[in-house]
Amino acid sequence: MPGSIDYSRLRILPDFDTAEWWAATKQHKYFVRQCNKCGHKWFPPTIPACAKCASMDIGWFETTGKGVIYSYVVVTQPILGAFTNTAPYVVAIIELNDCREEDGTVTRVAGVLMNDEAETAIGLPCEAVYEETNDPKIVVPRWKISGTAANTWHFNE
Ligand SMILES: [Zn+2]
Repeated sequence: MPGSIDYSRLRILPDFDTAEWWAATKQHKYFVRQCNKCGHKWFPPTIPACAKCASMDIGWFETTGKGVIYSYVVVTQPILGAFTNTAPYVVAIIELNDCREEDGTVTRVAGVLMNDEAETAIGLPCEAVYEETNDPKIVVPRWKISGTAANTWHFNE
């Protein structure tokens, strides 16, 4: 299991584009951006217009916080001091279960897993978990593997 993240060494400042997202994580909810006109979803929420229809009428979609590992990397040399005791740790790209659109578009998010490399494989289900930080306004989502699956893939040296 990876070591803990030293949140006292991170300064997270919600801004105009992310304040509502951070308010949601504080309530243990995982939001993605959603176009109010066509329903397209995306993450991170820093793009202020829909990539499909160009509407700027955008809102949020509350996901279940559940998905499948699409890909992953193992970080062995953290560049931020907050992660010094965390390494080695896995950063996964997670395909969200409830964000599939009719044309096949999926929404993927990145997250730091609670699990270590040996437990990680592409295709495994995972779900968001929420970590308190030293800042009472900031709760950070992480991800943990939540089950098994057939046809998974794991890198073997
Ligand atoms: Zn749209």
